[in-house]
Amino acid sequence: MQITVLSGGVGGSRFIEGLLRTKGPDDEVTVIANTADDISLFGLHISPDLDTVMYTLGDGIDRERGWGRTDESWNAKDELATYGIEQAWFGLGDRDIATHLVRTMRLQEGRTLSEVTAELCERWQPGVRLLPMTDDRVETHIGIDRDGRREIIHFQEYWIRLRAQVPVEEVVVQGVQDARPAPGVVEAIRGADLVLLPPSNPIVSIGPIAAVPGIREAIAATPAPVVGVSPLIGGGAVRGMADQLLTGLGIELSATGVAAHHGARSSGGLLDGWLVDTTDADQLPALEALGLAARAVPLWMTDAGTTDRLAEDTVQLAHSIGARR
Ligand code: GDP
Ligand code: CA
Repeated sequence: MQITVLSGGVGGSRFIEGLLRTKGPDDEVTVIANTADDISLFGLHISPDLDTVMYTLGDGIDRERGWGRTDESWNAKDELATYGIEQAWFGLGDRDIATHLVRTMRLQEGRTLSEVTAELCERWQPGVRLLPMTDDRVETHIGIDRDGRREIIHFQEYWIRLRAQVPVEEVVVQGVQDARPAPGVVEAIRGADLVLLPPSNPIVSIGPIAAVPGIREAIAATPAPVVGVSPLIGGGAVRGMADQLLTGLGIELSATGVAAHHGARSSGGLLDGWLVDTTDADQLPALEALGLAARAVPLWMTDAGTTDRLAEDTVQLAHSIGARR
């Protein structure tokens, strides 16, 4: 079986770990990762979601923090702060910097982000084919209201520096309308047996991937069932700060609100099926009314056991949709 997953960073990676532990021996997993979180700092090209997937699946992630390298030190970051460098708010560990140096060097040599990602994965052996959504430059920018004044800032600045503590007025995925899917992306969706959306941020992880021209069309056209997992349980994001983004965009803070935002494939959206938490089981009729096959199962990925169960439940719902067709 070919399983294709559209992923952000932390939520996506955890889910994919469960998928890899529970998949059949001949099943192959392709991960299409969001690159709209990418940022240039200090001349370095940083790809947070690609790195989170690569480090997590390659067992190099700091599990407690959820991002960045194990056994990390922060000398470079501290030195930058000592110079009064403003961008020192971004979490750049010393080991992590080596990854950004390799990526930046290769890009400057004229390689594509896909090629560099493949090279980095030779070291990390993530057990999946990891593809950036695009090789073109795309950046999510957030329109905020700062003391009554409108400002547009990079998503990373909103998220890390401002800790999502300012009202969101707009999310702009800059450059996405001119971006092309990276090599292999459209084929991985159209040729998949299952397409899965892990509980990744709907606005800044799944949103930008689906906004790359050609990707939404590939999802619409694939013969594979498309099944997603709600990142919201009981009216709030499990980890991270998706709540503030959803609220800013006027999307209802619920599993159903996110599903309605993605939409059913039968009416031009992304999904055939949607998993909600058992505590949100009362939302199943509303989801079915949207045209989705919905199930209520435990969605908290608290340990390997619960994560594996969720991956199995997701694949099972996809199979049941496939069988019904
Ligand atoms: P990011 O790029 O690092 O922000 O990671 P993702 O976009 O892949 O995932 C972030 C989303 O994952 C957040 O909106 C969380 O609500 C969701 N999430 C994190 N952990 C869990 C979990 O255990 N269960 C579920 N259902 N969602 C989760
Ligand atoms: Ca991210």
